Order: sequence, then C-alpha cells, then structure tokens
Amino acid sequence: MKQSAMKAKAATSSTKTSTTSKASRSHTYVYNFGRQTDGNASMRELLGGKGANLAEMAAIGLPVPPGFTISTEVCTYFYAHDRSYPRALAGDVKTAIGLVEAQMKKTFGGKDNPLLVSVRSGARDSMPGMMDTILNLGLNDVTVEGLANISGNPRFAWDCYRRFIQMYGDVVMGVQAADEESHDPFHELLDALKKSLGKAQDSDLNAADLQALVAQYKELIRKRTGKAFPQDVYEQLWGAIGAVFGSWKNERAILYRQQYGIPAEWGTAVNVQAMVFGNAGDDSATGVAFTRDPANGEKSFYGEYLVNAQGEDVVAGVRTPKPIAAMEKELPESFAALEKVRTKLEKHFKDMQDFEFTIEKGRLFMLQTRNGKRTGLAAIRIAVEMVKEKLMDQRTALLKIPAESVDSLLVPIFDTKSQKEAQMIGKGLPAGPGAATGRIAFTAAAAEIESRKGNKVVLCRTETSPDDLKGMLYSQGILTTRGGVSSHAALVARQLGKVCVCGAGEVTINYEKRTLSAGGVVLQEGDYISINGTTGAIYKGLIESADSEVKRVLEGSMKPEKSYTYELFQTVMEWSDKYRRLRIRTNADTPAMAETAVAYGAEGIGLCRTEHMFFEGDRIDYMRQMILAVDQVQRQEALKKLLPFQRKDFVGLFKAMAGRPVTIRLLDPPLHEFLPQDDAVRRQLADKLGLPLEFVIERIKALHEENPMLGCRGCRLGILYPEITEMQVRAVFEAAAAVMTAKNPVPVNPEIMIPLVGFKQELADQLAIVHRVAKEVMAKNSIEIDYIVGTMVEVPRAAITAEEIAVQAQFFSFGTNDLTQTTLGLSRDDMGLFYDEYQRKEIYNKNPFASLDQTGVGKLMQFAVENGRKSRPDLKLGICGEHAGDPDSIEFCHRLGLHYVSCSPPRVPIARLAAAQAALREKK
Ligand code: PEP
Ligand code: MG
Repeated sequence: MKQSAMKAKAATSSTKTSTTSKASRSHTYVYNFGRQTDGNASMRELLGGKGANLAEMAAIGLPVPPGFTISTEVCTYFYAHDRSYPRALAGDVKTAIGLVEAQMKKTFGGKDNPLLVSVRSGARDSMPGMMDTILNLGLNDVTVEGLANISGNPRFAWDCYRRFIQMYGDVVMGVQAADEESHDPFHELLDALKKSLGKAQDSDLNAADLQALVAQYKELIRKRTGKAFPQDVYEQLWGAIGAVFGSWKNERAILYRQQYGIPAEWGTAVNVQAMVFGNAGDDSATGVAFTRDPANGEKSFYGEYLVNAQGEDVVAGVRTPKPIAAMEKELPESFAALEKVRTKLEKHFKDMQDFEFTIEKGRLFMLQTRNGKRTGLAAIRIAVEMVKEKLMDQRTALLKIPAESVDSLLVPIFDTKSQKEAQMIGKGLPAGPGAATGRIAFTAAAAEIESRKGNKVVLCRTETSPDDLKGMLYSQGILTTRGGVSSHAALVARQLGKVCVCGAGEVTINYEKRTLSAGGVVLQEGDYISINGTTGAIYKGLIESADSEVKRVLEGSMKPEKSYTYELFQTVMEWSDKYRRLRIRTNADTPAMAETAVAYGAEGIGLCRTEHMFFEGDRIDYMRQMILAVDQVQRQEALKKLLPFQRKDFVGLFKAMAGRPVTIRLLDPPLHEFLPQDDAVRRQLADKLGLPLEFVIERIKALHEENPMLGCRGCRLGILYPEITEMQVRAVFEAAAAVMTAKNPVPVNPEIMIPLVGFKQELADQLAIVHRVAKEVMAKNSIEIDYIVGTMVEVPRAAITAEEIAVQAQFFSFGTNDLTQTTLGLSRDDMGLFYDEYQRKEIYNKNPFASLDQTGVGKLMQFAVENGRKSRPDLKLGICGEHAGDPDSIEFCHRLGLHYVSCSPPRVPIARLAAAQAALREKK
C-alpha cells in the first residue's frame, strides 16, 4: 500500500513521536506533525518542502508547534475539479484540528482558550513570498475576548485580531491597494488612526485603539466586498485553505515557476499549524536566520529578529530588524537555545539551513527550516567548506551547487578606480553581491519600459513586494530603503543573482515627485545610480565595472594564491572534471574567444561559425561582393580576397587550440544577415565595389527571400556555389599545413562540418569537394593532415534519415537552434508576439530555444543517435546549439550518450559542473 511504501522510504529520522497508522484508508490527504508525526523530509513531493521539514524537525525532537499538512495531491485535485476538494478532506481536517487542540489544550473557536492557527503554502521547491499566508486564524469577536482573558493581555489579543483581519481581508477577500503606487487600504486606516491619536508607532496603540481599528477594518471589508468578515472559524479556515491553493496560480507564482523551471503540475501543499506568539511581550520575538551567511557563504550565524513582533513583520521589511548577534545580549537564554538548534540543523540536514523561529515568553519554537537560498558565491563556498568539515563528500557537494551559480564568480565587479572616484551618497545592507549600474526606475513597470529600451536599470523602492518580481527581473540591481537582509527584496534578488542593497534608511524615495534623495543629492527617475551589493554602498551616477578575480587570475593579471574566490572556483572545476563523462567544447570564431574558452576549460571548438569571421572591417564588403556576384568569375574574384583572411583566422584558431579538435562549419549565413537594408549603406557599398547603385539595389531585390531562415543557406549555398566551399576548405588545410610545418609546429585536429543537411545527396556533394581540396593541399605541401568530416543535424529530415546520413558523416553535431526552429515550426527570430501569452498559460515550461524541448526535439535527437550508430557505431556525437550551455539540456545530452557539448566561452565552467552533475545523478 502507498502509505507503507512511504514509510519504507521514511528512514531518515529516528522518530521519537509515534506514527499514525492509516492503513485502513486507501487515501491520505492530511499528514500530522507534532506529538504524532506522519511524514518526514523525504516526502517533499507530497508534503511540499515546508511540510516535509516540519515533520522531520518534529521527529528529531526540535520544538515545532503541532499542526498538519494537506498534501499536494489535494492541490492537483483542486485544479482538476473546478476548485473543489476530495470528499474525505473535510473530515480529515476536522480530525487533525482535534489532534492539535488536544496537544495545545485549546479549542478551535473556543471562547475561553481559543486555538489560533497559521495557514501557509509549501511547494516542493520553496517559492518564497510567491504564494499566500494567513496568520492568527481562529479569531473572531468572541474568541478575541477569550484570548485577551487567558493571556491577560488585551492589547496583544486585539493586535492579533486586527492583523488577522488585515491578512484575511487582503488574501482571501481581495481587499487590496488599487495599484502599485497606492497604499494598502488597511495600512491607510492604521496610519490615519495613529495620526488622529498623535501616536507615532504601532506599539503606541493600546487595546481600545486596536479595538476601534478592528471595527474600521471590518467596515472596510464590508464596503469593498459587500460581505461581512466571517465569524465562523471553520469558514475562515476553508477560506484560507482555498486562497493558498488558489495562489499556486497567481501571476507572480507563475512567473516565478517560469524563472526556475518549476512544473505547474507539482502544486502546493497547505500547512496548518498552531500559532505561537512572538508578539506576546518583550520576552517574545520572531526572526529568520541562516546557519551560514547566504550572501558570501562564510560560516557565521546570520539573521535577524524583532522583539514583540510576528514573523511577517520581518519578511515584509516594514520594520527594520536587529542582527541576530544583538540577541546574545538582549535575550541570552533564547540565543543559546538558538545556537544549539543551528548546529543540530546543519548536522542533521547536512546543508546550510534558513529557518524561522518564534520565541514566546522565552520559549523557542521552530516554524520552518529549509535549505537556504544563497548567492552563487555562497553556494560554492558552502559546498567546498562542508566537504572540508566532513559534513558531506565531493559528489554530494557538487550536486548542491546550482550549475548556473558558477557564473556569479565570473561576473564583473566595479572597477576599483572608478568606484573610488564616484560620489557615495549612502549605504544600505549588502544583500546580493556584485556591482550594478543603471537608470533609476521607481516601479516595476518603469523598470520594464526602461529595460525594453535597451537600458540598464536599478529598481529603487521603499520596499519590494512579490508583485515587483517582474521589475526585478528587468533590473540589474535592486535598492530598497527599508527591510533587512531577509526581506523579500533580498531573498528574491539573491535567487535571481541580482545585485541588491536593502534597508538603506538614509535614502528617501518620493514616489509622487519621482525622486530619490540621499547624501544631499536628489536624483530623478531615469538618472544613473550605482550600487555595490557586496559592501552596501550606493553611488551617484555610472561606474565602470571590472573583471572578476577569477577572470583576472585566468588571464594572468592576478596571482591565484591571492584569491580565495579563485581557489573555490578551481576546486569545484577540478572535482567536476573528475566525475563528468561529457567533454566540453566551445563555440568560438576568433583566437581571442578560443583562448578565453580554453582558460575556462574548453577541450575543443565544437562550432566555428565561419560567416562570423567576415563581420570585421573590409571583410564584410568582400563577403557582400561575393554574395552580389552575378557569375562565377565575379564570385571567384571576391573569394580570392577572402581566402587570406580565412587562412589567417584558422591559423590563429589552430594555434590557440594547440591540437584540440576544431570544428569548422562551412558557410551558413541566411543571406539577409549580410545584405545592407539601409539606403546609405547600400550607396557606400556600391561606391566601394565600383558598382552602380541601381545594380546593387536590383541584386539585393533579386536575392530577397520571404523566409531566409529556410532559404538559400547552409549547404545549399555550397551546392549552388561550389567555389565557396572550395575556398573555405582550402583555407582550412593551408592553415593546418602552415601551423604544422611552422618553426614551432603545433598539432592540428580539424573537423569539417557541413550545415543544414537533410539529404544524403547534399552531404555527398559537399564531401567530394572537401576530400578533393584536402588531397590537393596535402599533396602540394607533402604533408598528411588527419581530419574528419561530419554534418550538423538541424533539420528533422536529417534526424529521420540519420542511418543513411551516417554512412558518410563521421560525426553529427546537433544544431538545436535550427532543429528547434524547424521541429516546432517556430521562428528563432519571431516568437515575441505570442511568447508572453504562452508563458502565462504555461504552454512552455521553459523557452524552447533556451532549454531543450526534450519530449519533442529530444526525441528526434534520440532517434538520430540510435539510427546513426547503426551504420557507424563509432559515430562522434555532439551538440552546438545554445542549449549546450543549459544545465537541464546538458543532463539530457549526457543521458543520450553524446560525446560533447559545445557552448559559448563564458558558459564553459557551468557546463563542466552540469556535466558532472548529470553523471552523478545517473549513478544515484
Ligand atoms: C544551430 O542551428 O543550432 C546552430 C548551432 O547553428 P546556427 O545557430 O549558426 O544556425
Ligand atoms: Mg543552425
């Protein structure tokens, strides 16, 4: 049975608490935690990350307030059945509430000693702040009195009630600010009340004030919705459960899922848990902490807390909390308890944890733990140091590092000199490392507009909410004036790899005037600002950026022993190389690119796009002359001019690659990329080539194609104009001969690649030229050059006829850019018009041009691999489309048994790690 199968997997914790037997029921929707614990950390799929870890913490004896998790299966059911629930659920929830009541010795809806609960989301992978939460549920006009009596603190009771109405009114009943720039209507009432009473702080309000506020809140809800705030506690509970499940499909959650490739089918769980109160007095507190520093990975206790407050106050960034270190003095006993928990969590979960806690009258409670989100730098540092501390082995450590995070060690930082010269106007908390310069945008919408214009943006807000996610995505950096290092802005920025400075209290933002004032300077929206997310410094104007330490070491301008970042990078790369099976090549067209890629660890060139070699200087004109030629004589003339350039470039590439394989693809330009569309440029070209302008215009017209991507490009060019293929092959072999016979000879390993092949006859046509010219050059130079010839697989027909094609092709390189374009019938250049809608409807989980469509394009690849090998068992296999730098696609290529992936130079380190992860996951 399902339940017992789960228990079999559930061996990670020695359960002190008893485990419920639900064997008599065929389906379990509700899992308890507390004195009775049904789940554990391995059950994330069913219980979500939060639910699974609450169960695990309860099981290892950490102080967790009791509660229960409604599984993700219910979420799936909810969406499949018109937002309704399985029939058994209502009864299960009631039973589970009964268990909580028994443990807490309180009654849900009871007038004497009422049980209050929180209702929170919890997906398999955490999506912080993206879905909804309700706290203090169970309060109504009667139970609030009960809470006031039993706590002996009416102020506290009314504060909880007003908070509850505010959250419930917003999340469940939809009473919200009209737009981004208006204020929250509940906050407006609160502020108005404080003003009318002449009280500055929320904490200055007494019980009677709060009671009056509650009446105003209820009236607001009634006015806005036409409904009364519900008094029945079960009605409240079901309203909250529905809102949390419903929030799985809110706009920001969908956006977040797209960003992180989280499938819509996963769904969220709902956690209902007894409330404990951080706002029960000055011996109470609430906070968020990380077992290590999530910004730089240092092994130091990191976090913040607020005395006499509830958790949302910390995360929302409304009050700026104190650093955790201050607690040692303020609440020493609680601090000692917290330190113990910190150690226990890391030992048990064997990873850096991000946890939420509440201290109620001196007693510590754990509300959540999860593997902490961290910057790329921190991910790498923590993994490497945890291996040193013997908390994990190398394999586990490699799997803990998101492959993309390697990028953050390579991104630019501010140029030291420019930073020194810049005017610093303020300082905030360093919350997302790196350097960002951009134009100020005060709203997410402004950030989007600015970024679409091609400008860099720094989003500046008093605080961010999850609704700002889109604006954050469009920005280079985020600056907030309120909130701490675990505020929404900081959390999300870190995850997005965005530079972030938060809680910059000396900075004033005026949304109405659209100004930002700091350090005596007033900046307008659109002005440049620069922020250093590593130090927290804020600067007026634009600052030049500089290369990262890793890049400097690799280029030789910094000594390796001077940079700990480099040491970390190098360690991870060495470990990766030990475990990966895939070879990593690069797409490079110039010796400089090739050298950078080799420094990053590239083991060959998997794609040299020869047409890119013609973009520079005069070459483009000769290239245009060749394209415009009306006959072979004219074309030969242009080709003759191009040959020496090509030869020289290949010499450079061969030298840079020093015997590593270099895949040179014959010309594959859609012609429109090379022909000038602009009249002035056409005139210049005519003058330069000594041709009449009318001729040039006519020729361009004659060469016009409605759909150049599917037109005269790829091998079709070489078939139409064999002299082009001949020139290119000659250049390759003459360069190879020159390099091999030079005074300081260098070995060469050329691989000639024919693009856009769909018919074996196309390949045969081009192969004949390649072999003939190669022979001629070798004979002339009395030299043998080892080379192979293969093809790109980038149209479905090539994949489908792979068995025939592999008879002649010595290798296949999957051109997944075109293969995606042609398989999906989707233009590489024109998806903008409908893409947003496709994303919104989650038709694509990810952009198919960025991450391989494994079920469609991937199937064709698999077919090609299997059938190609039938005629040539030692067929060499690689991929050179953009997907070759995407970790998920790399894993797919590994499973397919490709020999190499070839990506752009900066992605080579990411690919090394991703390839190792693919190999390690396969073994698991
Ligand atoms: C491809 O199509 O995947 C490819 C690498 O070629 P290009 O992007 O140059 O068309
Ligand atoms: Mg292509």
